[in-house]
Amino acid sequence: MIPETFVLATHNAHKVAEFQHMLGARFPGLTVVSYDGPEPIEDGTTFAENALIKARAAAAHTGLPALADDSGLCVDVMNGSPGIFSARWAGTRRNDVANMTLLLEQLSDVPDAHRGAYYACVIALVVPATPGSPARETVVEGRWRGVLERAPRGDGGFGYDPIFVPDGATLTAAEMAPDEKNARSHRAIALVELEKVLSDLR
Ligand code: IMP
Repeated sequence: MIPETFVLATHNAHKVAEFQHMLGARFPGLTVVSYDGPEPIEDGTTFAENALIKARAAAAHTGLPALADDSGLCVDVMNGSPGIFSARWAGTRRNDVANMTLLLEQLSDVPDAHRGAYYACVIALVVPATPGSPARETVVEGRWRGVLERAPRGDGGFGYDPIFVPDGATLTAAEMAPDEKNARSHRAIALVELEKVLSDLR
């Protein structure tokens, strides 16, 4: 049986709404609530480790099945960087403009043919043990490939969206309608993978 209530290890209300929207449509009655307990130190070296650290903490604190995601931009010629450092690439946490400006400088002499990158989103699910069934941990990943522009375009989205043009598109992710981005993004792809895992739990 899949439980009714999942705690999502984030303070981001938009993320809770997105998870609720996607998972609630697929599993009527499923509720996603935000986790407001102590936050663990995210000292993993991969998206998966960091997502698991957050989900384990939320599951341990609440006793509920817990979800956590970790995401970032992985640039081909930079061997996957900024990766887990995406939010603080320029040093200060969550300064999107500084992060993007630094990345553009670092890629300034990289030719168009080699400007490929992907957004990764890893979602960890930790279901605490219950009498008769052991604890269960699962990790899924979604990737959204594209190329990086030389200058930002668009006001939507966040992070590196103004320089990210998804494969098959001409607009940057910051120029797309929010619904279109949300339907195609790395998070959407990971959520579809998560739905398969949740179906198997039934
Ligand atoms: P978090 O996992 O939500 O904390 O995201 C980590 C960082 O990855 C963000 O601060 C952004 O720099 C980058 N990132 C993740 N997802 C996206 C996205 O959809 N658009 C743009 N940047 C993103």
